[in-house]
Amino acid sequence: MKTIANYSVSMELLQKYERRAKKHFGQNFIIDPSVVENIARQSGEGGLCLEIGPGLGALTQQLSKRYDEVIAYEIDPNMVEILSESLEECENVSVIHQDFLKADLSEYKEPLTVCANLPYYITTPILFKLMELNVKQMTVMVQKEISDRLTAKPETKDYAALSIQMQYYFDIKTIIKVSKETFHPRPNVDSIVIQLKPKNQSMPYDEREFFDFVKKCFQFRRKTLVNNLKTIDKERNYNTILESIGLNPSIRADYLTYDDYLKLYGALYA
Ligand code: SAM
Repeated sequence: MKTIANYSVSMELLQKYERRAKKHFGQNFIIDPSVVENIARQSGEGGLCLEIGPGLGALTQQLSKRYDEVIAYEIDPNMVEILSESLEECENVSVIHQDFLKADLSEYKEPLTVCANLPYYITTPILFKLMELNVKQMTVMVQKEISDRLTAKPETKDYAALSIQMQYYFDIKTIIKVSKETFHPRPNVDSIVIQLKPKNQSMPYDEREFFDFVKKCFQFRRKTLVNNLKTIDKERNYNTILESIGLNPSIRADYLTYDDYLKLYGALYA
C-alpha cells in the first residue's frame, strides 16, 4: 500500500479526480510521512479511534495500523470519493460523509480516543462538541494561535475565557510542533499537535452558567473587571465584592485564576 502522506501520491490522487484543496473546508493535506506516523503513535492504540476530516487519508492510514477500528467524518463528498480508493486496503476504517458538527455522537458509549488534523476554521466548535463526549484522550493538530490560547496562563496576552474553560476540563500539553512545509497547500499559520486528557473535575455551580459568566468578564479585554461586570448588572457594588474576596477593584480579567473566578462567582451568586 502506498504511503498517502507524500507529495507525489497526494498530487496523483488530486489530479486523478481533478480536485484541488478547498480553502473553505480548511484543506491542508499532510505530505510528510514522519509527521503522520508520529501523530498516530502519540495518539495511542487499540479499540476505536475517531477522526475528524480525513482528507486524502494521510493520517487515517496510520491510525488504521494502530487501532482496531477507525471512524472518520468527512464533509467534502469529493474527498469521500478519493478515500474510497486511497483507503481501499484499510478494512477497519469507516468513512462517514457528514459535517462532524452535525453528527449524532450519542451512540458512542465507551470513552473515545480522538485523533485529527482539525480544519482550522472550526477548531473551537469541534473542541466544544468533543467536550460533551466521554473522551479518553484527544490528540489534535490546531493552529499555533489556538494552542497558545488553550494552554495560556494568567497575566499573559493569550489568556482568555477559553483557556480557563478548556483547562478546567482537560490537562493540555503540546506534543509536536509542525512546520508549514509539512502541508500541501502550505498554510499561512504555524501548527501544533496538542494532547488533551479529561480531568473529570466538578464544581458547585452550573458549569455552563459559570463559564458564560467568565466569558462576560473577558468581554472587553482592555477594561477593568469591574467595568466588564457592570455590563451584567450596572447597579451592583462590585468594588466591595472584589475587596471582600481579596482582589484589587482595579484588576483586569486576565489577572484572575480559575480559583479566583470560582470565589468571585460564589460571592456574587451563591
Ligand atoms: N487529515 C487530513 C490530513 O491531515 O492531511 C486532512 C486535514 S485538513 C486540515 C481538514 C479536513 O477536514 C479536510 O479534509 C476537510 O474537508 C475536513 N472538514 C472540514 N470541515 C469539516 C466538517 N465540518 N466535518 C468533517 N470534516 C470536515
